[in-house]
Amino acid sequence: MEQTLKGTIIYGDEFEPIDGYITIENGIIKNVEESAVASDVIIAPCFVNAHTHIGDSVIKDPPFMPLPELVQPPNGLKHRILRQTSYPDLIISIRASIRDMIKTGTCAFCDFREGGLAGARALHEALGTNPDIKAWIFGRPDDKDMNYLDICHGTGLSSTNDLEMEYVQDILKKTREKGKKFAIHAGEKDSSDITSALALDPDFLVHLTNATNKDIKTVADAQIPVVVCPRSNYMTRSGIPPITEMLDAGIPVAVGTDNVMLNSANMFSEMEILVKTKVYDDRQVFKLCTLNGAKLLGIDKESGSIKKGKKARLMILSKKSDNMQGIKNPLGSLVRRARPDDIIRII
Ligand SMILES: [Zn+2]
Repeated sequence: MEQTLKGTIIYGDEFEPIDGYITIENGIIKNVEESAVASDVIIAPCFVNAHTHIGDSVIKDPPFMPLPELVQPPNGLKHRILRQTSYPDLIISIRASIRDMIKTGTCAFCDFREGGLAGARALHEALGTNPDIKAWIFGRPDDKDMNYLDICHGTGLSSTNDLEMEYVQDILKKTREKGKKFAIHAGEKDSSDITSALALDPDFLVHLTNATNKDIKTVADAQIPVVVCPRSNYMTRSGIPPITEMLDAGIPVAVGTDNVMLNSANMFSEMEILVKTKVYDDRQVFKLCTLNGAKLLGIDKESGSIKKGKKARLMILSKKSDNMQGIKNPLGSLVRRARPDDIIRII
């Protein structure tokens, strides 16, 4: 089946706005043709949300409290509530967050799933065979059981500060033996767990909010990608991640919305925070939230930007909504002010 879309296309890996047509055949972008046509829409690639904890969708509005009391395993508020949540309620709430991600323009996400094998199974069940979103699941052991690895893409740990280093080394070894990925939070609350996290040679790190210049240089030299979660860091009062410093050092940076408990899984909100508090570069921010996430997950050949041969994972936004009416700079407006309700259609 072939279809042709007309609009201002946020084109290619440099996200250049061009007017023209996109032809899609069997879900693949067959052609992009520049043409001076007037249109009422922006056609943009969908987001890649590189870090979520979708399992805590059952908790939407926790009290403001110190980060460890909120999220630290095993007895942080989040873990206590998760233990009390029934399986059907867990599935209902995770499914709602998945629908919300799709509706707000996300086509792939990477989740750190707690609860061992049962936790990973719950996310698989909630996902079902939904073709509209791809999930990468990074599980973690439950009571030393590592069977989650059979149905996960890898291991995603909370922090080296939360576990005995010997145990962490064992988890890493078993993860590698299964040929799976290993990722870990580091530098969220302070910088105390960064050196030990780096010693594990992870596939990627999450946060690095409190990284020193020396840490940034080490991460850059090792070319370890970092997922930043600025809204989450604001919410937990952890600081502002040194994103521009990381980018200047040549670190591959992607963006995640982190715990659903703290933030909606809406990447428009993440873009707005990034562009207005730290990065001040529309193109860079959009790239962090799309192509860089796709690279992190190894799907940049098929997703993350609009190019011939890639999958048509697109969001079509109105240029005539009350919010977008009169825009002159499509990329700037998309990054700084567009909202999910400006989306007309997701492909
Ligand atoms: Zn996290």
